[in-house]
Amino acid sequence: PQPSASAVRTAFLHFFRDRYGHQLVPSASVRPRSDPGLLFVNAGMNQFKPIFLGTVDPRSELARFRRVANSQKCVRTGGKHNDLEDVGRDLSHHTFFEMLGNWAFGGEYFKEEACSMAWELLTQVYGIPQDRLWVTYFDGNPSEGLAPDYESRDIWLSLGVPSTRVLPFGSMENFWEMGETGPCGPCTEIHYDLSAGVGPPQLVELWNLVFMQYNREADRSLQPLPQRHVDTGMGLERLVAVLQNKHSTYDTDLFSPLLTAIHQGCRAPPYQGHVGVADKGRIDMAYRVVADHVRTLSICMADGVYPGMTGASLILRQILRRAIRFSSEVLQAPPGFLSSLVPIVVEILGDAYPELQKNRSQIVSLITEEEGAFLSCLERGRRIIERTLSQLGPSELFPAEVAWSLSGNLGLPLDLVGLMLEEKGIQLDSAGLQQLSQEEAQRRSQAQQAKPAEKLELCLDVHALGHLRKQGVPPTDDSSKYNY
Ligand code: ATP
Ligand code: MG
Ligand code: MG
Ligand code: MG
Repeated sequence: PQPSASAVRTAFLHFFRDRYGHQLVPSASVRPRSDPGLLFVNAGMNQFKPIFLGTVDPRSELARFRRVANSQKCVRTGGKHNDLEDVGRDLSHHTFFEMLGNWAFGGEYFKEEACSMAWELLTQVYGIPQDRLWVTYFDGNPSEGLAPDYESRDIWLSLGVPSTRVLPFGSMENFWEMGETGPCGPCTEIHYDLSAGVGPPQLVELWNLVFMQYNREADRSLQPLPQRHVDTGMGLERLVAVLQNKHSTYDTDLFSPLLTAIHQGCRAPPYQGHVGVADKGRIDMAYRVVADHVRTLSICMADGVYPGMTGASLILRQILRRAIRFSSEVLQAPPGFLSSLVPIVVEILGDAYPELQKNRSQIVSLITEEEGAFLSCLERGRRIIERTLSQLGPSELFPAEVAWSLSGNLGLPLDLVGLMLEEKGIQLDSAGLQQLSQEEAQRRSQAQQAKPAEKLELCLDVHALGHLRKQGVPPTDDSSKYNY
């Protein structure tokens, strides 16, 4: 029998507590407490940052931590780790996910113990066949004076991983950084091969073991930390997919009740699990976006982040609007549908995160309210887009001024305008849009009256723009890019 997600989560925590004496600590809120550079908590290590930096108040509870483990609520939309644009397009990235982690502070243990504990848990406790696992280690980076991490490589070899499945990578893959600044260090990662030996390996990253040794300073330099630490993170959704024999996190018990409810509540065809061009009409992508986003919305609101006009709230509003757009336009959801999914999220995650249960009715009513307001704006936006398209020549770009006004005057975020056009195979005049946004930025800085909210909205939209350009419109077959 396959283990449930909650059994998998509990087994992780109990392994580190009972077998290796780790103290279990609760997940921190997704709203960072004292880190102005961070919009959302993006990794389990965030709450331990003062320990790494050596700035911890000796009277605080943090000062007593030596070995700890937890399951941390993480949101990766905005900042250095931003997965928003991948969500829905692949089968392994979420805007909200749970990160299982164990830590050893101040040299309590280091590489050897960290690797062997991880290997023991995966292969003996969870019973993952060894020959499905691959590992990576840091190859060094001469330009920063960083040596290759042969120590980790040799540890894996001594644990019995054949050298053909121990691969070196550079800084991009195997030097983990929390953000533009902050604790960082070389890492070694465990990946799982979905291919079952048929055809080339299809690897999905499962677990990252980071050896915290440096701090990235504002001037980009690396300064050694006062002590060395182990910091690991494994995505629960991906682990559960592996243990439930699924190729997709969406096919696990963390998501399937949501997909079922979406099918029952909308007039959409059933979920098929396709990605890229095989996903006709983007129906499956819409299922995934809606299921993903309603989890993120519920988790964030339960932690006191509400859709709004600045910072994290602005991003949450963008997520809410995306969810409403996909559910109402692509899945034909009736008005009020999105909030009806909240009780299902609470059902799935409420035992692990009781704050969901406590705030359930407030989350439902807030989403209902927002949805009502946005649906009419969406309807108007759609009509403006249709009208503009009817006046457009065969190879003409969608005019930047119209997109700009849809976003500025109507509150239809540019990333959504881009998505709506992408579906129709129409290209947006992104150069023109860039120009408009630069002019606007200039006007504002000249006037010296930029309100922070507007400034951020501008940044966000410019970011979405960059992505649109990167991606190219209309969509190509991008399924090969995604290995999970
Ligand atoms: P990927 O390369 O797949 O984007 P990552 O290298 O950015 O992952 P890490 O920062 O190393 O991820 O985070 C540790 C673990 O958290 C990953 O190994 C993965 O299992 C999980 N994880 C990371 N990002 C996501 C996400 N957006 N959704 C679900 N799980 C994630
Ligand atoms: Mg990533
Ligand atoms: Mg990675
Ligand atoms: Mg990683």
